Formats: sequence, structure tokens, C-alpha cells
Amino acid sequence: MKLTKKTNLIITSCILVVAIVVGIVTGIEFYDFSNYDTYFYTGNVDEIQKYSQYSPLLKGTVGDSNIYVMHGSENTVALIKAEDAQTYASVESLNNHDGAIVVAVSDSDQMTAASATVTKPVNGLADANQVINAVKSGSATVGILRYEDAKKAVEEDETLAIAQAEVEKVPSLLILGGTHANEPSGQITATLFLENADVQRGTLYITTETNRSAYTHSQPQEASPFYYELETASGSTRTFKFGSRATNTNQQWPNPDIYTHSPSGQQLSSSEVRNINRAYPGSVDGNYTERVAYAITQCVLQNDISMVIDLHEASPEYITINAIVYHQDAGYLAASAQLAMELYVETAADGTFINGVEIKTDASPTELHGLTHRELGDFTNAYVFLAESSNASQGKLRGKFTSDLIITGEDKFYEWADQLGLLYAAPVHINERVARHTITVTSIVDAFNNSGTTRLGENVGQLVINNVPSYVEIYDNGVGYYLHDVE
Ligand SMILES: [Zn+2]
Repeated sequence: MKLTKKTNLIITSCILVVAIVVGIVTGIEFYDFSNYDTYFYTGNVDEIQKYSQYSPLLKGTVGDSNIYVMHGSENTVALIKAEDAQTYASVESLNNHDGAIVVAVSDSDQMTAASATVTKPVNGLADANQVINAVKSGSATVGILRYEDAKKAVEEDETLAIAQAEVEKVPSLLILGGTHANEPSGQITATLFLENADVQRGTLYITTETNRSAYTHSQPQEASPFYYELETASGSTRTFKFGSRATNTNQQWPNPDIYTHSPSGQQLSSSEVRNINRAYPGSVDGNYTERVAYAITQCVLQNDISMVIDLHEASPEYITINAIVYHQDAGYLAASAQLAMELYVETAADGTFINGVEIKTDASPTELHGLTHRELGDFTNAYVFLAESSNASQGKLRGKFTSDLIITGEDKFYEWADQLGLLYAAPVHINERVARHTITVTSIVDAFNNSGTTRLGENVGQLVINNVPSYVEIYDNGVGYYLHDVE
């Protein structure tokens, strides 16, 4: 068939118009996705810190993520006048202020802050009111109280403050969700803790978007959906983003030919330069990803955090799945957690017999640099772990990439691969992946509580986190059941 010039022109114009329309529509969709803020319920949170507090150059940028802090209601803290905040900003000043610091629970009951923490935390509300009044009236400089009572006092009277100085050393845990924005069960597990945990003793730090920049774009050439949804107990939906493994090129570009990790000098392929889990310990004025990593490292250091657990997912054909990777000093805790998980036995509501949660443990290779379990372990005093679950949407064998696949893990090619014995673990529903990460966290906390000491050998007592659903509860009810309704 021979086309006239006129026909050619019409066909070309039509194609051009379609291309422009597709370009505009996808452009708008991508813009909306890029700027969409995921909502997290923060009703249980005592304090929201920003990364820029630890890594100043992040201020005002998209990656200046939140660190949610939950203090144990039974933690012992010092109540002071707000104007004295600088005086009591360090532990030394609180403990060695040469007689100026006395705690007036009653006139005859004067003690130093240091001894009060151990022997006489105030439990009854009547006693708490006496201490609060003593600080208010100036008859005591410092009042030793339960965190819950002190928080209430500060909320009611803005001339009061909780001293930054630690009266009693308590254990703490940082849960990193959203290190890789295309590994949903890490973020959802962190969200489950954020929206449910009731911390009784110790301090819980949570990030849900560890590398927030990575949530503003997609992995090129993966054709991944932008969002997926989970249904809450009331039947409403929560929308979460499916982002990329790497920092957005808007924040960091171009990639070098070879990525040289600092300070180890290790060389990796160029794309890893935007992978936060190759950027630790990070650097205050390094590339964007290094600045984000630096915020995390500094948060752990400055708060003397006892444990860090970094939650991930990987493809079913990758060897490190259903696994805990641990820094060498955390081997005993990883082994204890593994034992507890393997011995976990429950019958689910649908009759499924859960005969242990199978989990591998691997020591962090000492010469593989930039990862949480290596660098946070080497550069801080925390016990550090990384956990992986099996997710079909991570893998290369999958068929069509839909939001359904992210949630269910059901894919005919993976079923086939599983039948042929080609997988290290079959992909499973997000409920099981989150249940697995949750029991991993609680088992590590239990192991820590049984050992009773920090990595430096200090006895800091128990980290008590209540109201976290068990493996079988998440399996039965689904993770959405444990998420709050949001606007
Ligand atoms: Zn990952």
C-alpha cells in the first residue's frame, strides 16, 4: 500500500498527539506519587526527631525523615524548671552537682538523684504530685519521677521540663523500616510497632522511611506499581508507597564510574553509591546518601542506643532470606532469637499448624562494608541485626508486577520455580512477612532481656514493650487489623 503525503502527515500527527497525552498523564501521576506523603499514626509517640538534628545539611530536604521516640512510662526521669534545662543537660551535672540536687518527696526524705533512681522511683500519683509541687515551689531543684507522671506535669505546666540528663540508664532499640523503599514488610513492621507498641520500660526509636528520598521515585525498568493498600480493622484502607532501592537522582547525581566506600576504601559498582545500606557510617558533608546514613549513626551514638534492627526483604532465589544477619558481637542474641523462633508452636485460626518460624542466622562478613550490621556494629556500641523476608516482587522470575503481587506474593512463575526446588524460600503473603519480622524483633528483645546487659557489659535491666501482636495473631487477623484508621 502506498501512502500519500497527506495520510503520512495525519498518522504522524496522531502518534505525536497520543505520545504527548501519555506523557502528560504519566507526568502528572508521577508528580503526585513523588509528592505523596504517607501518613503514620503517631498517637503513642512522645517525641519526633528529625534527621537534620544529627546531620544538619539534610535540613529542609526531602530526605529529612522522622525518628519517632517512645519513652517507657516507668522510666525514671528528672523533672526540673524549664529555665534550668541547660544546667541539667548532662548526666555529670545531674549526679555531681555538689549537694544542690536533692529530691524532696517529703521534708525528711532527701536524697541524691543517683540513689533515688535505683531505690525510690515514685509510683503513686499522690507521691508524684508531691514531687511536682516541690519542683514548682522551688523547695526541690530536681524531682525524680516516672516518665509518665513527669510528661503529664510538663504538659500541664510549661515552666517545667524533663531533664535531658539520664537519671536511670535504660535499654533502647532502634527499628529501621524503609531502608529500601521497595521492600514493604520492613516499613509495615516498623509501622506496626509505631502504631501499637506501649513501651513500659526503656526507649523505642522507630523510622518508617529510613531513606525517604527513595520513596519519591521508582526503580527504573521494573514497571513497579506506585502504591499498595492494606485494609484496617474497620474496613478503610491505608495507602503505602512502593519506592526504589536507591536515593532519588534528584538528590544525588551523577553516579561515579566506581563507588568507593568511605572510610573503608571498598570499591563497588556505581549504582551502589545511592544505596543507603552501602553508605554507613556515613559522613556529615558526604554525598546525600552518606548524609542520611550519618544521621542514623549519630542517632545511635548520641542516644547510646542498645540495639538496632534493620528490616528488609529479598527475592526468593536469593540465599539470604528468612534470615538474621548479625554483627559478630551480637551472635549470642541472634542464636537465642533463632532458637525461640524455631521453637514457636501455635495453631492458627484456619487450622494451620505453625511448627516453628524457620530462620537462618549469618554473621556479617567483616570485609563487606557500608551495611548496617557491619558499620553500625563497628562504629557504635549497639548490638546490630538485619532481617530479611522472602518477597516475590523483589525477584527477577516474577510475571506481571502488580500491587496484588506485593501483598499476596502469588506468582505462577514463582510457584513453578518453587516446585522445581529452585528457591531458598517460597514467597509468602505480606501478613506472614510482617509476622516474621515482628517475631524476629520481639525474640531479639527477649534474648537481650535474658542476657541482661548491653554490649559494654552494663546492667540496664529490661526493655519492656507491650501490646505488640504475636506471629499467630498477625497471621490470623492480617497486618491491616493492627494499623490505625487515618484521614
Ligand atoms: Zn534491602
